[in-house]
Amino acid sequence: MSLQMQCEPVPPRQRQPKPQDASRLGFGHFYTDHMFTMRWSAQRGWHDARLGAFAPLALSPAAMVLHYAQTVFEGLKAYRSRQGAIHLFRADDNAERFDRSARRLALPELPPGAFLEAVQALVALDHEWVPRAPGTALYIRPTMIATEPHLGVRPAAEVLFFVIAGPVGPYYAEGFAPVRITVTERYVRAAPGGLGAVKTGANYAASLLAAMEAQAAGYSQVLWLDAVERRYVEEVGSMNILFKIAGEVIAPTSADSVLPGITVRSALELLRAWGVPVQVRPLAIDEVLAAHEAGTLEEVFGTGTAAVISPVGLLDYQGRAHTIAGGGTGPLAQRLFEELTGIQYGERPDPFGWMRPVAPRAEAAPLPAAR
Ligand SMILES: *Cc1c(COP(=O)(O)O)cnc(C)c1O
Repeated sequence: MSLQMQCEPVPPRQRQPKPQDASRLGFGHFYTDHMFTMRWSAQRGWHDARLGAFAPLALSPAAMVLHYAQTVFEGLKAYRSRQGAIHLFRADDNAERFDRSARRLALPELPPGAFLEAVQALVALDHEWVPRAPGTALYIRPTMIATEPHLGVRPAAEVLFFVIAGPVGPYYAEGFAPVRITVTERYVRAAPGGLGAVKTGANYAASLLAAMEAQAAGYSQVLWLDAVERRYVEEVGSMNILFKIAGEVIAPTSADSVLPGITVRSALELLRAWGVPVQVRPLAIDEVLAAHEAGTLEEVFGTGTAAVISPVGLLDYQGRAHTIAGGGTGPLAQRLFEELTGIQYGERPDPFGWMRPVAPRAEAAPLPAAR
């Protein structure tokens, strides 16, 4: 699928000023001048691919996504190297995961090539928005929503795919800040056979109240256990989680309620290349606590596109708090963070071929005309 894309760039004088202070970028506050949109209908398939101004969507209040949550999304970043080049990190994996998520939500398939073309076209056009300060990046949010106005419950026959992007700051303003987490036994994020393994808004909706209660109790994230036995560790907040016990790194798995993260996969590939023993298997919370008791729980950290690596300094379970790695950042978390971000910013070799270059689009260069 090669997209015939209509392009209507915003006239330079009407473009938004770019935020100048990198320390105040934060996450999710700013958006670039443009967005990519493409429509799908059961009759026509994908059509009307367009790069145009970032603008509010016109949506019927009966749009099915608003009622039945038929939507999926992705999150990936474009990084600028010190030399100025722009690269996406493992974007093919995001494209494949997006397609898998769409199938689970009974949304139309989007060929990974079309996903990549859309993402690259937006980044190429808004290349000036890829920030330059250390630790910053352009966060990209491809999304698919059911737009058909209809209140009967069935898969929508009209769908919108859009891609927006915005500059984001370093996740930690002053270096690594280990997080305090608490295990929830009351709430469940995802159940076997449910939506946990795909990137969809409903998983986040299910997590908000637990996160709010955890924060009120002084914790920044929730550690989720499995839905059936409330015993096996699954994820932390909206990140995957890794445990280092007696020199081995354990990545908890489940049948289908853990999101297959691209950062955790990258971390495991690096660890294997470094010769660090890795196990991917179910991990019970009792085993984690027993290791802590025995003094062999060396490190715990979350992984995800936004933070890359998020060390856990304190773990609360059933009202007892357990300090991990002295409440600081363990050496392995530190090394993974430095290696992953080193590859992403082009400061270290990329032996796995994870980085995909995006050439900036010269303003004058026209895109192929629409049909
Ligand atoms: C996106 C996401 C992750 C992390 O995935 P990455 O590909 O590493 O960004 C982990 N858990 C959940 C629930 C997610 O939505």
